[in-house]
Amino acid sequence: MFEAVPTLLETLLLGRSIERRATLARRVPRWLVDRIQDSEFQQTVRLVGERSPFYRQRFAELGIDPRLVRRPEDLGEFYTTSADLRARDTEDFVCGKPEAGFETTGTTAKNKRVYFSNEEVRDIGFEGAVGLWNLGLRPDDRVVDAFDYAFWNAGITLMHSLNAMGCFHVIASKLPPADFYERVRDYRFNVMIVDTAWLVTLTEIARERGTWPIKFILSGSENMTEQTRAWIESVWQTRVYQAYGQTESLGATGIECPAQKGYHLNEFNFKFEILNPNAEGFGELVFTTLTRKVMPFVRYRSNDITRILDEPCGCALRSMRRIDKIVGRGDEIVSCGMGMISPWIFEKWLAGVSGLADDWQVAVVQPGPRDVIEVRLELDEAGGQTPQSAEAALLRHLEEIFPYYYKNFRMGMYDVQFKFLPRGTLRPAGPRRKLRRVVDERIPVAALHS
Ligand SMILES: [Zn+2]
Repeated sequence: MFEAVPTLLETLLLGRSIERRATLARRVPRWLVDRIQDSEFQQTVRLVGERSPFYRQRFAELGIDPRLVRRPEDLGEFYTTSADLRARDTEDFVCGKPEAGFETTGTTAKNKRVYFSNEEVRDIGFEGAVGLWNLGLRPDDRVVDAFDYAFWNAGITLMHSLNAMGCFHVIASKLPPADFYERVRDYRFNVMIVDTAWLVTLTEIARERGTWPIKFILSGSENMTEQTRAWIESVWQTRVYQAYGQTESLGATGIECPAQKGYHLNEFNFKFEILNPNAEGFGELVFTTLTRKVMPFVRYRSNDITRILDEPCGCALRSMRRIDKIVGRGDEIVSCGMGMISPWIFEKWLAGVSGLADDWQVAVVQPGPRDVIEVRLELDEAGGQTPQSAEAALLRHLEEIFPYYYKNFRMGMYDVQFKFLPRGTLRPAGPRRKLRRVVDERIPVAALHS
């Protein structure tokens, strides 16, 4: 009977009313979410086992009978990775007729393709509308979005969310922030939905030339530091919320709520797991799509490190669990003379020193026998720091917040070098290319011998 529940709830009780759907989210008991998820998980595993050449082959190699799989644990060590998606033909994952396609851009040159039906895009858009309702969006708000539309899903999904809500909506697309600023002023938009790095530049312009009344800003696509968020909120005198997602999940994996503490997971459409959690619960987020029929994924490794948050937040989406901010990517953890390092360490370190611009990168290099942590920074012209004063402040702050790493530094286990670059040089060219925060640039031992 549980197979029928989501459809029955939607068609009989909810229709396409976002308000009713948000009310249901408040009341739905956790056990029901779990039961629906289990049932849909089993259907998804069976579907890919029958129709997808990739899953058929992998299940056969591992001796997995999809009909016997009830829960994720029954799949043992089987996961789908982004490397699988790059190595195989997209068609090997396809189980039904695709109607919409998007590409992911990441830190490597080859983009992954993900296909959907129009209904799937509409459904995720509707779920996103519930998240926006929870943040205070209502039909008489006026929304502008500055998402990049080329090959990317975020704008299309948002369009479906706003259609469901019935808001006045203009697609600005990713104009240069200065052009955007000039062009949108007269519209009296009170909600802006934009890219994180882009929003920083827009806010610099608005700080100089003036803001207008804004109900809230939603920013997606990249983790924003709390320091940056506080600064943007103070300039615009509003709340800034973050969404979390990937093209593989069609964007909407999670969205913040008014508490601004972690992302509520979209548990109506995905089953989530945390892979190999450490003592604090941090591990890699893994998801299985529950309602997709065109290109479903089973246990897809997101490569994002986070944890499930337990403290209650009290908002309407409270029955949907929350994850913490993404602290790093699975492939950005580097073992070196400093220790096991990942982006969150540097985020915390650099956030404690004023006058630094938002973009930074840390490279592990090895010009001699010792690992060197090369900290690549851009100075904020308005911050009043010189390279020398910034260096001194950074070393002082390292000692304060990470005595362990500072001690290793003093012991000569690694060296630190600061490199100050002109503004805008670190961020890779091309739309939505992500800036890799921690990179290992040491020459691999194997390469020395070949
Ligand atoms: Zn909440």
